[in-house]
Amino acid sequence: MWTNLVHLYTLGGMATVVILGAGISGHTAALHLRRMLSKNDEVVVVTPNSNWNWIPSNIWVGVGKMSADQVVFPLAPIYKRKGIVYHQALGVAIHPEGDSATKSYVEISYTDPTRAGEKAKIPYDYLINATGPKLNFAATPGLGPDGHTVSVCTPSHAVEAAHKLAEVIAKLKAGTPQTLVIGVGHGTCTCEGAAFEYTFNVEHELRAAGVRDLAKIVYLTNEYELGDFGVGGMTFSQSGFETTSKLWTESLFRERGVHAILESHVEKIEPGVIHYEQLDGVKRTLDFDFAMLLPPFRGVGLSAFDAQGGDISEKLFAPSGFMKVDANYTPKEFADWRAEDWPSTYQSPLYPNIFGVGIAFAPPHQISQPRKSATGTVIAPSPPRTGMPSGVMGKTAALTIADRIKKGTSAPAHIASMANMGAACIASAGSGMRQGSAAAMTMYPVVPDYQRFPGSGRSLQDTFGEIGLAAHWIKAMLHYMFIYKAKARPLWFLIPE
Ligand SMILES: Cc1cc2nc3c(=O)[nH]c(=O)nc-3n(C[C@H](O)[C@H](O)[C@H](O)COP(=O)(O)OP(=O)(O)OC[C@H]3O[C@@H](n4cnc5c(N)ncnc54)[C@H](O)[C@@H]3O)c2cc1C
Repeated sequence: MWTNLVHLYTLGGMATVVILGAGISGHTAALHLRRMLSKNDEVVVVTPNSNWNWIPSNIWVGVGKMSADQVVFPLAPIYKRKGIVYHQALGVAIHPEGDSATKSYVEISYTDPTRAGEKAKIPYDYLINATGPKLNFAATPGLGPDGHTVSVCTPSHAVEAAHKLAEVIAKLKAGTPQTLVIGVGHGTCTCEGAAFEYTFNVEHELRAAGVRDLAKIVYLTNEYELGDFGVGGMTFSQSGFETTSKLWTESLFRERGVHAILESHVEKIEPGVIHYEQLDGVKRTLDFDFAMLLPPFRGVGLSAFDAQGGDISEKLFAPSGFMKVDANYTPKEFADWRAEDWPSTYQSPLYPNIFGVGIAFAPPHQISQPRKSATGTVIAPSPPRTGMPSGVMGKTAALTIADRIKKGTSAPAHIASMANMGAACIASAGSGMRQGSAAAMTMYPVVPDYQRFPGSGRSLQDTFGEIGLAAHWIKAMLHYMFIYKAKARPLWFLIPE
């Protein structure tokens, strides 16, 4: 059934901003827009899940240190309190030119159990696509919770991972050696930082349970070297000396006795066996008792149509399914890419009232050098778009839209390029207020700029790494701070993205 929602477009100039996705970038955009726009303007969020999830803490759910309830909260009461219109639904298709009956609109399909499967058209003046990734487990046969491995990408995945880990610990306590493999499940995965975090949290839990000696832990990754993290690694200045994230990460692996298998593309997973290929073109196998492998990401599969109903999805989206924005997508050799090829406004080049932010925008190129195996298999970490940049992009699009609604469509766009933006990442290496530790890394800029910073492409003063208990406290504090902010508690907007 189609519900054609009547758009109350008044002479007073009421505008409607629709945001697809209430993750880090979309929820940030929605809260800022509601704060910046007048009551006459409408902020509408379309998102399939009833809960907001602080995804970074799923790692702690995955080792049984937090419950799923501690990392989620229901969106509906927040949106009701803030006056944001909320549809628990999936965005399905964008009609930027509208049709004979309606101006620009998105087709949605409700996931709200009371309206499940019902369709609607939601008209918009401005649209933000903040739909994040599709967790593409299907790219690797046997990968994921429907196959033979676990994941920590969603709270329910993480709960399952914690149960399986508890079973492994019970077997170790009974004296049965176990092999635990943690890493990425495809040659083009991103989010290696999350796999790294889970590895060291698991290692910490095994030690705490007194069973570390019977467990073999293997980190399986598409990175060319340890410490790459999909950003081509980092060079730090530490106590007046230069060091690299490679040296720093390798010493952590040595200290904790974690094995690493690098340069790998996981081809398929059978019960207890991972089949993978490495850059040398050799196909190998790895037996496991427990495996947490992250999936590759792609766009969520939105389509787009013009006024005549013609499919324009290929114009709006890259082949990866992510949305094309103001980046330079001209194909080039890796060495020829420039920092300025990265987008800064996140505006669609075809429709200036559409923005793509967070993981939903199509990056112009890899940050880590892409490589192919001797048989031609692509083994290339995709560029991470972590929480901080995602939140900043959401806010940037919100600022532009608010200005254009208030001052007119010629108001200049706000800008925030990942090639001119820093990011802080704190990778937990085990939780606990006294025994915990974490690796804190900051980098500036996220996308290296070799013209501005010859050598490493990043500022040595503003790029550093530190591991210790204090970083764990900061990580724990961020959990509470970002949930406070996302709940839009008093003065939430003073907390940076
Ligand atoms: C296990 C794990 C740990 C991580 N840890 C860290 C960390 O420590 N630090 C860090 O900075 N980053 C971390 N990240 C990355 C971080 O979670 C992402 O950078 C961030 O969530 C991206 O924000 P986003 O808004 O683009 O996407 P998301 O936060 O994924 O939000 C996307 C939203 O869109 C919704 N959606 C999906 N399809 C549709 C549709 N068709 N229509 C409407 N809505 C849709 C989704 O339900 C979701 O609400 C981690 C990621 C993982 C998986």
